[in-house]
Amino acid sequence: SYRKGGYHAVRVGDQFAGGRYIAQRKLGWGHFSTVWLAYDTNTSAYVALKIQKSAALFVQAARHEIEILSSIADGTTPSNSKCVAQLIDHFKHTGPNGQHLCMVLEFLGDSLLRLTKHFHYEGLPLNRVRDICKCILIGLDYLHREHCIIHTDLKPENILLVSTIDPAKDPVRSGHTPVLERPEGNINSGVTSLIEKRLKRRARRAVAKISGRSDSIIGTGEAPKSDRNIDAIDVRCKIVDFGNACWADKKIAVEIQTRQYRAPEVILQAGYSFSVDMWSFACIAFELATGDMLFTPKVGEGFSEDEDHLALMMELLGKMPRKIATTGAKSKDFFDRHGDLKRIRRLKFWPLNKLLVDRYKFSGNDAHEFSEFLLPLLDFAPEKRPTAQQCLQHPWLNCKDSTPS
Ligand code: ADP
Ligand code: MG
Repeated sequence: SYRKGGYHAVRVGDQFAGGRYIAQRKLGWGHFSTVWLAYDTNTSAYVALKIQKSAALFVQAARHEIEILSSIADGTTPSNSKCVAQLIDHFKHTGPNGQHLCMVLEFLGDSLLRLTKHFHYEGLPLNRVRDICKCILIGLDYLHREHCIIHTDLKPENILLVSTIDPAKDPVRSGHTPVLERPEGNINSGVTSLIEKRLKRRARRAVAKISGRSDSIIGTGEAPKSDRNIDAIDVRCKIVDFGNACWADKKIAVEIQTRQYRAPEVILQAGYSFSVDMWSFACIAFELATGDMLFTPKVGEGFSEDEDHLALMMELLGKMPRKIATTGAKSKDFFDRHGDLKRIRRLKFWPLNKLLVDRYKFSGNDAHEFSEFLLPLLDFAPEKRPTAQQCLQHPWLNCKDSTPS
């Protein structure tokens, strides 16, 4: 992808925006961009520099993301305190592969995906799950209520931890020295060497194996880095990646969300609103507490991934009301007129409460309380799901359990 229209190759020490930002190390990448840790010489702080691919499609996507992020940053409440990543600056950068739009964001830590990995995919202590859930909800409430923005791609990869002790964040106090120019003979360039690439691929495959995620699901692969900021967390986090976000009254895409976090109304093409983010949020909360994704649909003999997904939802949540099942633009592809799946006839019901006890060894009480929190968010009727604001009032978020986190 490091070709015309693709990624911009970056080397440590490269300068951006007339020398204001200096590249330090690669933080991650997605389908659209590479993200670098950069030193801001104006403010003497570290920032995340997101460098978009240069083809027209990506430029357009970056313009959209900048528009959304700017409107968030312009809000009356300081978005910095609102669990949403802050846009600091944006500019164009011309390189051998074309002109790249660049976004400067506040520098954040590891993603929730990495956090679940850190806990060996066995789930986090419930007190930590609660703290993270509160942050995500504060972010969602802010996006939904103050900005009328639907994120549409909420998943663990797109929620990053805020680390309290991060040497890279306060270079002066920590004595961490930023790279200010390109090191002599730096062959370890942004154009990743073949060996490095192969190692990364192997590392990613290992993750995929453990978590059951395929490379394509991971999508935004993260560069391997130490887990140092995981041990230091006070479990605050922020929502990132507004590349797919939209205003509720100006929707762009019909097919939204990453598969496992996709709401039923999106599969059925029955229209959507803020409540799709609440569905994804519930999937994330479950994943944090158990280490497993809530729904991992697969294509099978005689049925599609969509059909498997709907079947899995009904096995956990009970039958979808006929009215909801039959009113989407794609309903006829999946359901007969009675509201039964056409090609998956036998469902094995396994309610959430029981799943948490049987498979995840929750105590009866924990399972009951956590189910009470999650189930309203997983209502098949989107308008019945609690809003982020309502969800923040839920007693589960404020109960303390005895197990230390
Ligand atoms: P894309 O739109 O290409 O998917 P993302 O915004 O998801 O790009 O960023 C890709 C990756 O870069 C993220 O998964 C994360 O690892 C890293 N990243 C993004 N934003 C930041 C940030 N503000 N601070 C630290 N790392 C970040
Ligand atoms: Mg992404």
